Amino acid sequence: MIVTKTIDEFKIARKTLKGSIGFVPTMGALHKGHLSLIQKAKEENEFVVVSIFVNPTQFLEGEDLDRYPKKEEADKEICKLAGVDILFMPTSDVMYSNDELKIMAPKIRGYILEGSSRPGHFDGVLQIVMKLLNLVGADKAYFGKKDAQQLSLITQMARNYFLETSIIPCDIIRDNDGLALSSRNVYLSKEERQAALLIPRSLQRASEKISSGEFNTSKIKNSMIDLLREGVSAVEYVEIVNRDFKLIDEIEIGNTIILVAAKVGTTRLIDNLWI
Ligand code: AMP
Repeated sequence: MIVTKTIDEFKIARKTLKGSIGFVPTMGALHKGHLSLIQKAKEENEFVVVSIFVNPTQFLEGEDLDRYPKKEEADKEICKLAGVDILFMPTSDVMYSNDELKIMAPKIRGYILEGSSRPGHFDGVLQIVMKLLNLVGADKAYFGKKDAQQLSLITQMARNYFLETSIIPCDIIRDNDGLALSSRNVYLSKEERQAALLIPRSLQRASEKISSGEFNTSKIKNSMIDLLREGVSAVEYVEIVNRDFKLIDEIEIGNTIILVAAKVGTTRLIDNLWI
């Protein structure tokens, strides 16, 4: 595995890869969720490139940029063992200069749900993903459904900007207790982790209701919120949308995403279920 930190180093290493390339962009502190993306990239391509960059422009004032978990050595080891060919670990000054041209998230889909709780977040996400996709020039890039709205906006960006890289959605990986894996789970105390389980349980409750014939989204949302309020510190949103991220009144099997954002202690967690 070649570890690169600058654009020039990356480009030199990239030129040595002659064959199909799968790309997995991450912010590091790698877990089995990230690993599943790397494995899928490995299965579907001759070479795999992973980036680790905690992107400052997607964090809002007062968010956890400064304390975002960093595990550089462990991450390198994980990538090496997973058979990654190039690991790109740039610093901010490598990725950004002053007075940059900006990518802006779409005014509606970029500012609802996550974009409403975190205005401007998706501008930063799309900017860095655009840079990385252009730099890597992969055949396929892998993104988790865990960040459903991010996945949807990146897919739209790839379409709107005629990018050559196919955007590949990957399933959510969960811990044995059902909590979706996230680098931010390390912030949770033992008690908070128990409370956090209400998030996947609320999605499970929604799934059971749908299986028993309840398709009314308000009723499903209310019963999820009732459950969440038993333990989380704040419910930021529970919403039910179609795959175009439009709010829907009735569940559409095969075209629905149920999304939750909640705070447990001071930790903000998101999760979702694709129906
Ligand atoms: P992050 O490092 O949090 O920016 O995540 C990098 C990529 O891994 C994104 O495409 C995420 O959606 C994906 N990812 C994060 N957690 C999970 C998970 N539990 N299951 C599947 N993919 C995930």
